[in-house]
Amino acid sequence: MRADHSHRLVIVSNRLPVVLKAGENDWELKPGSGGLVTALAPVLSRNGGLWIGWPGTVTDEDISEPMQRFAEEQGYSLHPVYLSHEDVQGYYYGFSNEVLWPLLHGFHTRCSFEPWYWEKYQEVNRMFAREIMRSTREDDYIWIHDYHLLDVGAELKALQADRKCGFFLHIPFPSPEIFLKLPWRREILSGMLDFELVGFQTQADTINFLHCLRALCPWVDHEEWGNLLRIQCENRTVNVGCFPISIDFEQFEEQARSKEVEHKTAKLNLFHQDQQLILGVDRLDYTKGIPERLMALDKALSLYPELRGRISLLQLLVPSREEVAEYQALKEEIERMVGEINGRYTQPGWIPIHYLYRSLERQELVSFYQASGMALITPLWDGMNLVAKEYCVCNHREDGALILSEFAGAASQLYEDAILVNPYDVNGVAEAIRRGFYMHLSERQARMSRLRSIIRTYDIHFWLESFLKAAFEGQALEFPRDGLRSYLPKIG
Ligand code: UDP
Repeated sequence: MRADHSHRLVIVSNRLPVVLKAGENDWELKPGSGGLVTALAPVLSRNGGLWIGWPGTVTDEDISEPMQRFAEEQGYSLHPVYLSHEDVQGYYYGFSNEVLWPLLHGFHTRCSFEPWYWEKYQEVNRMFAREIMRSTREDDYIWIHDYHLLDVGAELKALQADRKCGFFLHIPFPSPEIFLKLPWRREILSGMLDFELVGFQTQADTINFLHCLRALCPWVDHEEWGNLLRIQCENRTVNVGCFPISIDFEQFEEQARSKEVEHKTAKLNLFHQDQQLILGVDRLDYTKGIPERLMALDKALSLYPELRGRISLLQLLVPSREEVAEYQALKEEIERMVGEINGRYTQPGWIPIHYLYRSLERQELVSFYQASGMALITPLWDGMNLVAKEYCVCNHREDGALILSEFAGAASQLYEDAILVNPYDVNGVAEAIRRGFYMHLSERQARMSRLRSIIRTYDIHFWLESFLKAAFEGQALEFPRDGLRSYLPKIG
């Protein structure tokens, strides 16, 4: 932690950064995957610290020993918050994933506003607050993450906790037209004002939050304070800012340049010598726009027959929330579409879509990034989308093209050199595929070089330092203004 070495950093998130599996005699712990873990685990390993969260499984057994072993290997401690089956149903599957996830991504019609979900959400947030009090000291800096724990600030306040506490939202924050549909809108919003610092991914999210505040708490004053927004409520001040999360540039680049990855990439290239691979990497989720992307590929192959035999989509779908019927249905829909498109266009020696339904080891994923001439990243709405950044960093030869949804948070930084698309516009995405395919090497190189330079400058270390500077000094390191959304009003 460069901003202030004297405070221990305590990360609090729904899940601990581990996957727990019952082995023959003992529990086995493996590092978890996903954006948050990829971003923060290296930071804690380097600086030491504590991570508080749910181990991801309902158990009565004591798992402290494997936790301890993991902590020794990784260089930081874990503190589990144990949840019951009912807690998981109401707080996690219910309020977090059937209310907040769809609502904050703008899919309010997918929300299930069950009052008992809200009760459970508050209860579990209270449990987290108690565990924070139990396992931390007054001089720790407590950094709460994401939509599962929006109410922890309010619960800490109720416990009269004397802790410095900040919050970062990894997913988008919607406009009042969407947010106001939440039956507990006042409680959630005023709970967010119980943190000292609230961070969002993009300027658009920050401004949406401000508009919701104006609608629901018009008595709250705010002013611009350097690059932060300072909100005055009752007798306290809350700083609000925009901190686009990123990745460890050096770590990804080093891996991309390693012999093992080069070898794997060469093998992949051998199979696709005359073709350009287009990469899609997504968790199974309706926000990722996968059926829309498949429709666009279908459209590209039908409108531009010369692309047949010359492009192939390599679609990696990472299993997620498989227990939920809606997600199973989405998987079936995707697999049906993949089957139909492959059935329609496959020729001997060429298949339009290579489809994988599993999670890959990092090395293999990096070789996929490297072997692909284009990345097709078309979420309908996404907090950031780290895959977009990872693709660019791993493309160290700078010969790839990034097709990116304008509704990915990453577009607010990469908009100038990515091929921007509206993921709902099937013809537009099809045309972007064609444009990417024919883009001259010199243009690809110029664009990719600039994309990589932005990601190199505003990497995960910059993000961390910026947030902690805002936490301790009331001023953030400056990210460039979001030029994509030039229609956004100035904060203030
Ligand atoms: N990822 C992974 N294994 C895989 C595919 C992806 O660990 O097989 C990682 C990927 O490297 C990235 C993260 O999952 O860091 C996905 O983050 P992103 O922000 O793109 O989406 P999220 O899943 O957090 O919505």
